[in-house]
Amino acid sequence: MRLTRYFLPVTKETPADAQIVSHKLMLRAGLIRQTAAGIYAWLPLGLRVLKNIEAIVREEQNRAGAVELLMPTLQSADLWRQSGRYDAYGPEMLRLKDRHDRDMLYGPTNEEMITLIFKDGARSYRDLPRILYHIQWKFRDEVRPRFGVMRGREFLMKDAYSFDLDEDGLRKSYEAMFVAYLRTFARLGLQAVPVKAPTGPIGGDLSHEFHILADTGESALFYDAAIEEVTRDDLLSADASTIARLTGLYAMEEEEHAKVADCPVPAERLRSRRGIEVGHIFAFGTKYSASMGVSIQTKDGSQIHPQMGSYGIGVSRLIGAIIEASHDEAGIVWPESVAPFRVGLINMRADDAACTHAADRLYGQLCEAGVETLYDDRDERGGAKFATMDVIGLPWQLIVGPKGLEKGVVELKRRATGEREELSVESALARLAG
Ligand code: ATP
Ligand code: MG
Repeated sequence: MRLTRYFLPVTKETPADAQIVSHKLMLRAGLIRQTAAGIYAWLPLGLRVLKNIEAIVREEQNRAGAVELLMPTLQSADLWRQSGRYDAYGPEMLRLKDRHDRDMLYGPTNEEMITLIFKDGARSYRDLPRILYHIQWKFRDEVRPRFGVMRGREFLMKDAYSFDLDEDGLRKSYEAMFVAYLRTFARLGLQAVPVKAPTGPIGGDLSHEFHILADTGESALFYDAAIEEVTRDDLLSADASTIARLTGLYAMEEEEHAKVADCPVPAERLRSRRGIEVGHIFAFGTKYSASMGVSIQTKDGSQIHPQMGSYGIGVSRLIGAIIEASHDEAGIVWPESVAPFRVGLINMRADDAACTHAADRLYGQLCEAGVETLYDDRDERGGAKFATMDVIGLPWQLIVGPKGLEKGVVELKRRATGEREELSVESALARLAG
């Protein structure tokens, strides 16, 4: 993509209304634009990151055996009256009426709708177990939308729902999602801490939140330092034993920690840090299948209500969390897996015919090799181009200037470390295409 054709409103000024670094950088790097309180337009660069995150979330859901569908954002209030949640949900639910005066709402979540869809489509034990998911916009009229996409009102969520014949099956579905979450966050370059979450009146021990450690997180966490020893490779190869190891280590939100009389972790190993909740998995049994009358015939002919769980990931919030975890003074440092482009190609002298010719040629070769490249072909000072590339945080910068060309070299800079290296065009291509 040529920058002269792109839409990338990068700004030098720090936006006054942004309090935390990820929000500031998302505005400065031209990823998002606020259109109303807690509601954002995704600009081209931000949309590419959002799609990359979505793709990884999707791959891991599919790998875990979940099946994708798509439910609408608008729902009928009657659906929620069936579960009794229409009145219970409160002011976070955005309620509206259609032209026939029917009560509608913008979905804050989809338990009711998926339960009804499943009820219509499943009859017997052969239709279970199933995990269904979608990636769809949600609306919650948060009292205090803040921190940009971190706590928005409209936000993108992946929500999955499992249906099982018995509690044992539910436990297996829960574990499959747990593994998917560990792998998803690891692939996004994040270290996520699973925190035991309260299950409320439903009881049981199957509820965990996944938190990214960051000083700007809204939650206060207490956890066993041994959690930090779990490596990325452990997470990528996660199985039931990884879950047992992780859930065996103490990790609680402040409110729950305060209720623990005897903390099992010795003081020198107890860490206290803040966290950003990026995912929440929860087994709630027959709560919705019973209230909404889902009946499934078992092998021996009796009828049961399926055991259900729900599994959310804050896809749009993750962008904020990734930036909180990965940035420096100059701007964002994207992990390779989600970067909007892999390479930023800089033509240092757009007014120099030979330099432009060489940069154009290199751009063509990168495109041909399938390397996603943002090409700064603007007629601007080198300094301004470096600043733009640093703030938008692409993993690699490839710099073409007249001095280097005389020696037959270009410069390759790794954004994360700032390391620079001079090499021939051929070696640069070979490196980046790999
Ligand atoms: P929170 O405690 O942060 O309000 P929640 O418990 O209401 O989260 P869930 O209902 O479990 O969240 O939703 C699943 C995921 O959706 C959360 O883990 C979070 O990552 C994301 N999420 C929830 N609310 C928002 C929001 N207002 N803006 C962005 N993402 C959100
Ligand atoms: Mg909430």
